[in-house]
Amino acid sequence: FVISPSFTRLAADVEIQFCPPDKLKPKPAVKDLVFGKTFTEHMLEIQWVDGEGWHKPQISPFHNLSMHPAAKSLHYSVQFEGMKAYRGVDGKIRLFRPDENMKRMNRTAERASLPTFDGEELIELIKKLIRIDQEWVPHSESSSLYVRPTLISNEDALKVEQPSKALLFVILSPTGPYFSTGFNAVSLLADPQYVRSWPGGCGHTKMGANYGPTLMIQKEAMKKGLQQVLWLYGPDHRLTEVGAMNIMIVLKKKNGGIELVTPPLDGLILPGVTRLSILEIVRSWPEYEVTERDITMAEVVEASKEDRLLEIFGAGTAVVVCPVGEIHYMDKVIKVPTMQQEKPLYKKVYNAILDIQYGRNQHPWAVPI
Ligand code: PMP
Repeated sequence: FVISPSFTRLAADVEIQFCPPDKLKPKPAVKDLVFGKTFTEHMLEIQWVDGEGWHKPQISPFHNLSMHPAAKSLHYSVQFEGMKAYRGVDGKIRLFRPDENMKRMNRTAERASLPTFDGEELIELIKKLIRIDQEWVPHSESSSLYVRPTLISNEDALKVEQPSKALLFVILSPTGPYFSTGFNAVSLLADPQYVRSWPGGCGHTKMGANYGPTLMIQKEAMKKGLQQVLWLYGPDHRLTEVGAMNIMIVLKKKNGGIELVTPPLDGLILPGVTRLSILEIVRSWPEYEVTERDITMAEVVEASKEDRLLEIFGAGTAVVVCPVGEIHYMDKVIKVPTMQQEKPLYKKVYNAILDIQYGRNQHPWAVPI
């Protein structure tokens, strides 16, 4: 029995096979969790076949996938999402704006010639999966359960052409506290010879193919004692993203006032859910002007010289915000006084977002499971 994507009732038709009690694993202490290394007891899978549509979703004990060595995604990329479930102060578990992740995953699927799906149905299935593994959502106000929906083609054919088979699966991984000892500012390598993304490409999607090539540059940054890469683009060295985060720059304007600048969604950057949320939150605070515009290294250097560069921070699901302390650019080191601000914006937005994620501020962005 298969269901066409046009009238999906995916969530209602899920088949569940529970992990036998003797196979249940002890839950690790949150302090021992290393990101992405521990997985819960169940996973979700949905097979798609061209002409048949999406098959019945299956939730079953966590297992290895079996794949033909010619499976298309082993050769030509995987698509994925990253979102989190949080155990709130009231004990309720919530997802943060999962509809935004679903929209982005469908945009990525479209760009990768993979099938799209009904996002609301997948949210219902993810909720079911989390409810089954709910004891894996850490009992901590700074830890969470990372949710990794992934879309691959498991068609066993090497030809580079639109796949006729796909597999959507979701795995869950508890993650430990970030910033358990307070915020630490990171130093960035900004080397214009490397680009992450380009016009007409797919840098605005969550394709695996965007991530593998960044690792070598990340390693180079680390060899220089720096923590992250600042991705530049074009002859004018526009700032685009930092590591796998969006970038936020806080400037004192020449004519007074404070501006929060972030690069526009021009196809070069991933439309982050955290980015969107920060923009919406800060736009409601009248003391800041919020602009989505291009910003070049020349402007950052000038603002720094004129003491108008106040803060730079990365923004993403993993850490919410990540303050930046230095940028190593060409032969210069630009000091960014993010940590020296009396009332920094990065901390205000961090608190505002955590209040929503952990249920201290009841907000429609936080969706109970
Ligand atoms: N940019 C890139 C390249 C990313 O991988 C991520 C993480 N998904 C982000 C930005 C931040 O996006 P989000 O706020 O949705 O996590």
